[in-house]
Amino acid sequence: MIKNFVHREKMSDDKQTDHHTPIRVSGFAKESVVDGPGIRFVIFAQGCQRACPECHNPQTHDLQGGMEVTIDEILEMIDSNPLLDGVTFSGGEPFLQAKAFAKLATHCRNRNLSVVVYTGFYYEEILADSDNQDWQELLKQTNVLIDGPFEREKRTAEIAFRGSSNQRILHLPVGGGIAAASDKGNS
Ligand code: SF4
Repeated sequence: MIKNFVHREKMSDDKQTDHHTPIRVSGFAKESVVDGPGIRFVIFAQGCQRACPECHNPQTHDLQGGMEVTIDEILEMIDSNPLLDGVTFSGGEPFLQAKAFAKLATHCRNRNLSVVVYTGFYYEEILADSDNQDWQELLKQTNVLIDGPFEREKRTAEIAFRGSSNQRILHLPVGGGIAAASDKGNS
């Protein structure tokens, strides 16, 4: 892949006032090539109530665990690496903090970074909860949704970026609309 080395300017979104919004996280991977296409900054959301058997990240389940960081602090880490292709929200369950992650996603998109979101919910469940504005906003800001819980019986190492075969890679149209499924996750 030919890298785009154009320096990402801090956009006018820095004038917005949501930078002190906290997000509870388990941790970060500052350069990952296994959580979506290209080189990605990964934020592991803290908190998940699903309890999938043999979940790979059990330390992310406690809703009060991990630590709080502000959107500003996360953006500082992202801005320090000009090689990033995008950001990935993993978990834990990012949709439990959808409002804050949607704000962060907006700032990332303004920096020309693609947004990949992992969720234990299925896309159709999220779409169906149309009154949940925070969920719908996070969906709108997502380029690629990798959906569905980890199912131990369907575990496989044969498919890209997923742990079990029930999980899908869904490319979401900018600003909403119906997703298209893919096996690759290139955004
Ligand atoms: S949804 Fe994800 S983080 Fe939550 S228990 Fe299942 S595999 Fe683990």
